[in-house]
Amino acid sequence: MLIINGKLITWENPNRVLENCAVYIEDDKIVDVGPQAELTARYPQTEQLDAHGQYVMPGNICAHTHFYGAFARGMAIPGPAPKSFPEILGKLWWPLDRSLTLADVRASAEVMLVDAIKHGTTTLIDHHASPNSIDGSLDVIAEAVDQSGLRAVLCYEVTDRDGLEKAQAGIRENVRFVERTRYGPVAGGRVAATFGLHASLTLSDATLDACRQAAPDDVGFHLHVAEGIADQDDSLAKSGLRVVDRLYQHGILGPRSIAAHAVHVDAREVWLLSETGTRVTHQPRSNMNNGVGVAAVESLLRAGIPVCLGTDGFTSTMWEEWKFAYLLQKAWNLDPRRMNGADVVQMAVYNNARLARSFFPQAPLGILTPGAFADLILVDYQPFTPLTVGNLPWQIIFGFNDGMVTGTICAGKLLMHDRKLITMDEEAIAAHASELAISTWERYNKNLPFSTK
Ligand SMILES: [Zn+2]
Repeated sequence: MLIINGKLITWENPNRVLENCAVYIEDDKIVDVGPQAELTARYPQTEQLDAHGQYVMPGNICAHTHFYGAFARGMAIPGPAPKSFPEILGKLWWPLDRSLTLADVRASAEVMLVDAIKHGTTTLIDHHASPNSIDGSLDVIAEAVDQSGLRAVLCYEVTDRDGLEKAQAGIRENVRFVERTRYGPVAGGRVAATFGLHASLTLSDATLDACRQAAPDDVGFHLHVAEGIADQDDSLAKSGLRVVDRLYQHGILGPRSIAAHAVHVDAREVWLLSETGTRVTHQPRSNMNNGVGVAAVESLLRAGIPVCLGTDGFTSTMWEEWKFAYLLQKAWNLDPRRMNGADVVQMAVYNNARLARSFFPQAPLGILTPGAFADLILVDYQPFTPLTVGNLPWQIIFGFNDGMVTGTICAGKLLMHDRKLITMDEEAIAAHASELAISTWERYNKNLPFSTK
């Protein structure tokens, strides 16, 4: 496929914006990038995709999300509104994840994948929970990812909150799925695996050790870390250690591990995260919604931690997350100089690309250059001031929105063209999910803690 008449944003480092250039794709990789006249002469027989002057750029990457959260949309939580993060977990997320069947898991993954294709997010790092449907749940999600044509990293979140048996089932599901990805490519190599843990506050020392023992040495962990202050309170009460120290003691940290949030970490914990090369993900919309505080993102970056950007199960609209990341630090710190646009790019583009590449090492990701995976999007943005490499972060923060994505390509395959989905039937998927949601919500109501009924 030869993409013509596009303006290219390469996200190389340093970045380039190229006019009058074309992109030649063969199989799942970008093979050639150069002046359009040269490429059309060099590849005369190739099917052409006319970008009609739109921007062509690498697809966005989401460093932390939860497909299973889809059915929370529009759901009423009975009784008084949760007044703390532990209450949000107890009244919303835990009764909801206990209500999910494998059919719900599939449907929630499908709706989130449709959303990702429409909004130009081509790689998603998911964190899954369905304690009454654990076995095979990652296969079900992988099937949906395969159908969608997108790229994803999957794991099951191990927790003690549903008893020892389910914790063990969660461990088994992670190990089985990691082995499956090693046995042969899953979804044509577009699905990778990591080892999921919920968070320190629902994991005993014994379960942490069992996970460390069960996980192969070259597999990292993906978990929530110090998202709310309750995680620290619990860890100090359980172990006398702060959360990051506790995780370090159990061998959970490292360059392959993803620590989502890190809102409440002290100087020693920042140092430990940095020393171990652990990646931290920032989800500003989620932090605001849960009222848990704001991660000191700039300090984490200055400490050398590769902070990435995720959505935590909000829609897969990464540029929307950029805006919140940019604005939140200014509001929180009462200082408009905070969170430079270049810092947002560092997280969302370069750090997310490095993280994604660690799971798909066969070729570069998140970059438009020969040899990289052909994960590209077409964006219908008409700048009314000159768009330059220097001002691109602010053109995106103040000008782009995810609804401007008109075309999505992943691994060289066109998944959306002129805003029409090719691999997924959005209407049928939404209708099916809405039907399932009725009984999921009924089970949710039965699973609510007694005090809220
Ligand atoms: Zn999360």
